[in-house]
Amino acid sequence: MNLLDMIKDAGIIGAGGAGFPTHAKLASKAEYILMNGAECEPLLRVDQQLMAMYPEEIIKGFEAAGKLAGAQQAIIGIKGKHKEVIAILRDKIQALQLGEYVAVKELPDVYPAGDEQVLVYELTGRIVPEAGIPIHVGCVVVNSETALNIYKAIQGKPVTEKYITVAGDIPNRLTVKVPVGTPVMDVLKLSGIENFDDYAVIDGGPMMGPVMANLNGFVTKKSKGYVILKKQHHLIRRKTVKTEQARRINRATCEQCRMCTDLCPRYLLGHNMQPHKMMRTLAYSLKDMEEQKIAYLCCQCNLCELFACPAGLYPKSANMMVKQSLMEQNLRFQAKPKEYAVRTARAYRLLPSKRLVARLGLKDFDKPAPVTELELRPETVQIAVCQHVGAPAVPAVKAGDRVTEGQLIGTVPEGSLGAPIHASISGTVLETENGFIAIRRD
Ligand code: SF4
Ligand code: SF4
Repeated sequence: MNLLDMIKDAGIIGAGGAGFPTHAKLASKAEYILMNGAECEPLLRVDQQLMAMYPEEIIKGFEAAGKLAGAQQAIIGIKGKHKEVIAILRDKIQALQLGEYVAVKELPDVYPAGDEQVLVYELTGRIVPEAGIPIHVGCVVVNSETALNIYKAIQGKPVTEKYITVAGDIPNRLTVKVPVGTPVMDVLKLSGIENFDDYAVIDGGPMMGPVMANLNGFVTKKSKGYVILKKQHHLIRRKTVKTEQARRINRATCEQCRMCTDLCPRYLLGHNMQPHKMMRTLAYSLKDMEEQKIAYLCCQCNLCELFACPAGLYPKSANMMVKQSLMEQNLRFQAKPKEYAVRTARAYRLLPSKRLVARLGLKDFDKPAPVTELELRPETVQIAVCQHVGAPAVPAVKAGDRVTEGQLIGTVPEGSLGAPIHASISGTVLETENGFIAIRRD
């Protein structure tokens, strides 16, 4: 079996959050393969620890992915502040005699260093065009946990586990490996909190992750962390504002200072994303559709909304409102060929992570979350058939079947983009309906 098929059969998807099937990415031919080890979301601690714990496996998986994509160079992007991890990686690259091919480049400790387009620029100096993806400038980007999963796929092991950081206003901050499909509540209780009545949980990082509407969900292959905060925490209040309320506040208060635009990482890369114009569009019900289409250029990093705006308004939400309305009218952004250059002020307008953490009110919680040896053994797992970009997996088992860990339980529909799913524990299939395959441990 060739490597691309191994990666596909192992059900590997981007472990960094988006969940794009990795085999589809690596089917492209690229000049550079880049590893995203930036982990720029405050409080999350998965990638930096995995790179220290499994350098050989990650480097080998990364190298194999690079060769598969025909890349001439493989570059690991990691923040310069992780000096020990960088030394481990460089030593290992030398020991494996891969120095000609794999390099480590240090990233500034800014948000959002891990945005794919920011990463591509920082590592190669290339600018992904508006509404484009890294392959448009000859780059493929994989996350460090994805590289580890590629290594495991070569050993014949599919994706059945996920590393997750549990962080926030809690007694026990930790990072833990759990079976895919584990009840989220089992993971949350590792925090040392039993009763969550007074708490809200962000699914992912504090900048881009949504506040979970309920805590009855299940871990997926793209879960990365849970940030637990008191319900009255400023960040939770900001993130749970209702759309109508945000619209009303936006209309009443925007002073058009354009701080949201001046600090927008996509604008700074030379794109035409200008959230202050979306605020204006909504405030004055402007009808210029061409002007509004730039709303498609937003990567939803939330920097404008949670840091830049001095009035505490909701420019990212304004983008989303405009985009929604454009989508309803079937109006799309059409990129025009042009030369891109970063804005000259970019170097002075990068947002240091420390300032961001302070502004978010997370300084007291910005602490290590070490990987624990603790093993979670859930009695039942619920494995979502759709936890990736593309078509849902089709169940290959039925209620009552016995399955063993690693067994294929859901396949990709013929001719579709998607990723298969595998049993994360050995046991009996309870049901295959309602978007999940449930397995009870023997
Ligand atoms: S949304 Fe905020 S930052 Fe943007 S222009 Fe209005 S007041 Fe200024
Ligand atoms: S969320 Fe705001 S800062 Fe981020 S890309 Fe969109 S407009 Fe720019």
